[in-house]
Amino acid sequence: MKKKIVVTGAGGFIGGHLVNDLRQQGNTVRAVDIKPLEEWYQRFEDVDNLQLDLDLRESCHKAVAGMEIVYNLAANMGGMGFIEHNKALCMLSVLINTHMCIAANEADVDRYFFASSACVYNADKQRDRNVVALKEEDAYPALAEDGYGWEKLFSERMCRHFREDYGLTTRVARYHNVYGPEGTYTGGREKAPAAICRKVIEAKLSGTHEIEIWGDGQQTRSFMYIDDCLKGTQMIMESDILEPINLGSSELVTINHLVDITEDVAGIKVKRRYDLGAPKGVNGRNSDNTLIQNYLGWEPSIRLRDGMERTYAWIYDQMTSNQPAIA
Ligand code: NAD
Repeated sequence: MKKKIVVTGAGGFIGGHLVNDLRQQGNTVRAVDIKPLEEWYQRFEDVDNLQLDLDLRESCHKAVAGMEIVYNLAANMGGMGFIEHNKALCMLSVLINTHMCIAANEADVDRYFFASSACVYNADKQRDRNVVALKEEDAYPALAEDGYGWEKLFSERMCRHFREDYGLTTRVARYHNVYGPEGTYTGGREKAPAAICRKVIEAKLSGTHEIEIWGDGQQTRSFMYIDDCLKGTQMIMESDILEPINLGSSELVTINHLVDITEDVAGIKVKRRYDLGAPKGVNGRNSDNTLIQNYLGWEPSIRLRDGMERTYAWIYDQMTSNQPAIA
């Protein structure tokens, strides 16, 4: 059934892809972001595009007016470098999430989705690079990523209490590192897969064949390709899953292995310079997908090599569209 759907954070990476997917399914879509429209990663003429600051309660009311479904993806966020140096700014996303809950509840929408993060998990469970994958219960007792993770954990709980106390139908996914084309790859907010693609491309184009890696490269992570994220997000939204659930790949790699893959895609070898003082986040993190398998009989499965090939190709095009390749 076609629905009236609002996506917040629609000028960003995941929001832009979600808007595209929902409009292609024939839904009536409203896209909202604080950025000027010309800065959105993706923009569609058949969508109601609104520039609104969702920190403000009245903007949230405008965003949800007349809508049935809300995907709230707006947040002030970025990779480790950004969230370690902007804790107050990350916590201020609580204004968006508070006002969006209030507005969605007052507008009596059918469903409300909140994009949470693996950064809610207890840091003590992520000290070892030989990780035990994180189960949903591992968020408590709480010791979330300072700033960004605490805000996500608080906003998850707000969804829960709006559901219990006011009957707002909420769904919450804990995204683990999402990557893909049409996202941030430069400027300070980029995450590891895009940053490594950019660095390898720079090394290739300049002929230096050397890149800097944050940390010792031994830290472990999993990375979910955007198409899996879109599918999982909509499946969770339509499901009966009341509590926050992992949405992430369980293909665990070291950052060094991520560089190996990128080198392979690029067709070059690079010398690696390790910056041990740079922000690198927890030592190890993976997604335990038992719960999502139990509920949905599905989990993200796009191989990292395949997703990186598509991501690299897009970033390469962006970086070379005005500049001839050297190597
Ligand atoms: P993004 O930064 O590309 O998109 C977020 C968008 O929110 C931006 O376009 C930004 O302008 C917008 N925004 C910020 N403040 C706003 C405000 N006051 N009013 C309106 N819009 C505002 O990030 P993304 O990677 O697309 O992430 C989307 C959501 O998923 C975020 O909530 C993020 O925390 C969550 N998440 C993402 C990842 C990931 O790996 N990308 C991992 C975990 C969680």
